[in-house]
Amino acid sequence: MSKGYEEPSPEFVAAKDDITGDDDGLMKVKMSCGHATDPGVLSAWCRSLLDQGYLKFHCPADVKGEKCRAEWSYQEVRRNASLTEEEQQKFEEKLATVAARFYHDFKECPNCKSFVERRELTNLRVLCIICSSLKAKSFEFCWQCLKPWKGAGTSSERCENMGCRNQALEVLANCKLKDLPGSEIKNCPSIRACPTCGRLIEHMEKCKYVVCPQCHIEFCFACLENARSCQASKGGAYFKYCAKPLAPRQTQIPVWSRK
Ligand SMILES: [Zn+2]
Ligand SMILES: [Zn+2]
Ligand SMILES: [Zn+2]
Ligand SMILES: [Zn+2]
Ligand SMILES: [Zn+2]
Repeated sequence: MSKGYEEPSPEFVAAKDDITGDDDGLMKVKMSCGHATDPGVLSAWCRSLLDQGYLKFHCPADVKGEKCRAEWSYQEVRRNASLTEEEQQKFEEKLATVAARFYHDFKECPNCKSFVERRELTNLRVLCIICSSLKAKSFEFCWQCLKPWKGAGTSSERCENMGCRNQALEVLANCKLKDLPGSEIKNCPSIRACPTCGRLIEHMEKCKYVVCPQCHIEFCFACLENARSCQASKGGAYFKYCAKPLAPRQTQIPVWSRK
């Protein structure tokens, strides 16, 4: 239901299960690396990867004593594991949480290169605990320009270093407008910040629904609603129209909220 019309259907083959080694005579789904497995085994394996904090899915099949390790996209897993709507939602929430911690909350300290976690997501002024304890003098840097913090107080927009600016906002303000193919939607910004995690995405697909490569949530490029809500509201005509008007150029980058 939340699948774009470009999505191919799973390919089933008569083969043994390359993940469990079982040869029970049942049809298996074929993955892009050529290995085959049972959809239930696939979803259990991928869920265990997420539980361990992995953000990418890989193939565990044995190839002459080594693991295949081919990477599978979430879209491929979602399709081949035949996830139900509810399972998809759970998967996506879990992916978003893991990715949030990975991409959003950590940056390298420009001084000691260790990973620093940002606790206040709207504050660019960040203290490196490692530097500060080594030097007995606090070291603070700017989350945006990654230079030592300059200025009094805190800010969510910029510090006082030259050139500290939010490049993502400039890209959003200046990107080209385009008509979305196969729809009545005209003059849509060609670059959007993912409404869930803020990652910039350029519209390249034939479909107005785009899966964010960072948080894996599928959203509508035109109205910026979650794909499920955009589709739910316009019956079969959801590729042509949206439930809501075209969202204007974004002037803020959504900040990932941790649950
Ligand atoms: Zn494989
Ligand atoms: Zn440091
Ligand atoms: Zn700065
Ligand atoms: Zn995202
Ligand atoms: Zn929409």
